Amino acid sequence: MSTFDDLDLDDRVRKVVSDLGYETPSPIQAETIPSLLAGRDVTGQAQTGTGKTAAFALPILSRIDLDAKKPQALILAPTRELAIQVAEAFQRYAANLPGFHVLPIYGGQSYGPQLSGLRRGPHVVVGTPGRLIDHLERGSLDLSGLTNVVLDEADEMLRMGFIEDVEKILQAVPESRQVALFSATMPKAIRSISQSYLHNPVEVSVKSSTATATNINQRYWPVRGVHKLDALTRILEVESFDAMIVFVRTKQLTEELTEKLQARGFSAAAINGDIAQAQRERTIGHLREGRIDILVATDVAARGLDVERISHVLNYDIPHDSESYVHRIGRTGRAGRSGEAILFVSPRERHMLRSIEKATRQSISQMELPSVEAVNDQRLARFAQSITDTLANGELSLFQDLVQEYERTHDVPAAEIAAALASMVQGDRPLLLEPEPEPTENSKRSGKAQAFEISGDETAVFRVEVGRRNRVTPSALVGALANEGGVPSKRIGHIDIRAEHTLVELPAELPDDLLRKLGKTQVAGRGLRIRRAGDEVLDRSGNGRPRKPGRDKFKGPRKGQRSSGGVRSGASKRPAREHS
Ligand code: AMP
Repeated sequence: MSTFDDLDLDDRVRKVVSDLGYETPSPIQAETIPSLLAGRDVTGQAQTGTGKTAAFALPILSRIDLDAKKPQALILAPTRELAIQVAEAFQRYAANLPGFHVLPIYGGQSYGPQLSGLRRGPHVVVGTPGRLIDHLERGSLDLSGLTNVVLDEADEMLRMGFIEDVEKILQAVPESRQVALFSATMPKAIRSISQSYLHNPVEVSVKSSTATATNINQRYWPVRGVHKLDALTRILEVESFDAMIVFVRTKQLTEELTEKLQARGFSAAAINGDIAQAQRERTIGHLREGRIDILVATDVAARGLDVERISHVLNYDIPHDSESYVHRIGRTGRAGRSGEAILFVSPRERHMLRSIEKATRQSISQMELPSVEAVNDQRLARFAQSITDTLANGELSLFQDLVQEYERTHDVPAAEIAAALASMVQGDRPLLLEPEPEPTENSKRSGKAQAFEISGDETAVFRVEVGRRNRVTPSALVGALANEGGVPSKRIGHIDIRAEHTLVELPAELPDDLLRKLGKTQVAGRGLRIRRAGDEVLDRSGNGRPRKPGRDKFKGPRKGQRSSGGVRSGASKRPAREHS
């Protein structure tokens, strides 16, 4: 297995990676970073969660010229959310590069800050295709100094109807640039981009293992509503387990999570690659002997770990590839026993779950988090049990005398004295969990479109009140539904644009919250006012997706309509006047 030291990264970049607690390069990183550093074009078949952002960001940062005034790297991303995420990752990885400047550019944001950001001469620009084209056409984005182009989630850009925009940008960049193309899948249109615009690319795909582990019961919990730490503690309180390994992504997280668990009264310890071998073995010895029950570990530290009493593996952070997953869960079910594997999956990591299922050829069933009542029932039962155990141990005569003495002199019933003593034992920590808070505020506050969980595969036809007369385009609609409404773009089906309105095929079970939110979203200057289509029939042959984008795409006053190029929620959309 390679380490970051084996890669020829700039020392300052390597230092950040180590400060971030990354122990080893993920498979996609190990395979692409050397080629990118050697100046080769690369296609990488990899999804979110595999560490692909660092796979392209670290080599770019290793060779960045901090004195240059024109953008040197351009990253194309399908959504505003991803553009921001990638820009944040660049900023993080550039922590030791003084003066480094990355600028995210996406539709829906006003032009003012983007224009002044561009004037300041960012080293790296991360943008959605529509808005990047707008800036190219305005002359505000200078690509003449570009050395690197990255297409991130290329298949998603294709799905969202951006592929012409992507090509147009690729045609506008200098011939000598290096291109890296990342895509979860490699449909024909993406291959043809690769053939036309990449020079003899190195092709990398993260292979998946096909191991099966039939004695391990696998479940996943879709992260929502409850923080992962609270979810973990509920599971620890309610599941009966012997010993558990909790996997996290970085060394720091092993320490942080261990401290938090200890503060909540669990006997946990951390192991990671920074802890000396002797100490690691001591900790594992403690686990084996039952002196601790929970080990918080990174993949590296837990490699080969063989402790029979590990009944549960909990993937607190989803692993980067299915091989790691198979490795992790193999820490339980040792010596012919059965084991339990639990996986936390946040909305953006759903595809990783699918690829793990595919690789292991087993389906992973969804689990319900133990309810507040179940947790409280357990707590009360444990509380009662500890009284029973203490009584059974005997040797209470001194305390019994004290209580009786107190009862006599203060004239207080024994039950009240017992209650006071119980409260002393419990201390500040509340004995019972509070009922669950309402989960929706977070997403409202962050202002980002939340990826909604939509159950069921059934689709239905919805009607929105914008049509050909408003010059709406399929990509504008997809952009609005995906970026503003958080409808997973994979779940947006045919689009049938009529004169005054449009029919769209969407999941039948759209949550009410989402419908309300979408209803207020504006496309082509009009509210969508989305509702179910009644008995109108959608024409699947015509102008629906997948589409050939219209030739008139770059003419006329339609900037605001391109999907990431100006779909706005509940605001008037006149780009020129958006300097707020
Ligand atoms: P990505 O696939 O780029 O979205 O990355 C997924 C997550 O993995 C991000 O939270 C990164 O910070 C983290 N990450 C990336 N590379 C590594 C690594 N080598 N070791 C540990 N974590 C990593």
